[in-house]
Amino acid sequence: ARRALIAGNWKMNGLRADGLALAKDLAAWLDGEGRDASNRLDMLVCPPATLVALVAEAVTGSRLAVGGQDCHAAEAGAHTGDTSAWMLKDLGCGFVIVGHSERRTDHGESDETVRAKAAAALAAGLVPIICIGETEAERDAGRTLAVVSRQINGSLPEGATGTNVVIAYEPVWAIGTGRTPTTEDVAEVHARIRDEARGRLGAGADDLRILYGGSVKPGNAAELLGLADVDGALVGGASLKAADFQAIASAS
Ligand code: 13P
Repeated sequence: ARRALIAGNWKMNGLRADGLALAKDLAAWLDGEGRDASNRLDMLVCPPATLVALVAEAVTGSRLAVGGQDCHAAEAGAHTGDTSAWMLKDLGCGFVIVGHSERRTDHGESDETVRAKAAAALAAGLVPIICIGETEAERDAGRTLAVVSRQINGSLPEGATGTNVVIAYEPVWAIGTGRTPTTEDVAEVHARIRDEARGRLGAGADDLRILYGGSVKPGNAAELLGLADVDGALVGGASLKAADFQAIASAS
């Protein structure tokens, strides 16, 4: 059985004091009141790059995992402002988000770029969380399944297995909007993603964790996380409040 992953993407939020307080709160919860949850699932926070070192040090030895929100495809070099997967690994990260729709939009990242970043993550010993998802126009045009299939095939790196990568399905129109697809739609897309992954990963696709992201809240978490092919959540806004993020984990 696949172990759920509840991941928080803090995006560009938080100064030192906020990040430290939130991470310590979550780590303490996993060892205390949240022990049941931490026995059955993995919990991850992805702070902004400025806070990764601070947070990783603060939660060392706890059950809370730390990840980056993006990485460059190269190991090192003349890439001003970028962070490599190896640098994140060096700070204690276990994961890195790649291809988030905000990166695809704000920074023009293509499937090919995302695949190169995911390959770098694997080479550095990180688990890439590869984000895919359709825009509202693509959904309205009935192209959702075609888009996610293209993104899966274009973004999965060489060497990917069912356990060394994670896929996050985030419909762009559901991010930060309070809107979510119906559970039938989520179930259909996740099943399609696993089928498509089977072409690349073979039987390993049964081990692949496929997260849902986009307006996950304590109120809708149980319904979404209860679906057969939903193996966790990638949470934005609601991951910035310890109580909400904990409630989402408890609901899975
Ligand atoms: P929200 O949970 O704020 O909709 O963000 C989802 C997301 O983009 C996580 O990566």
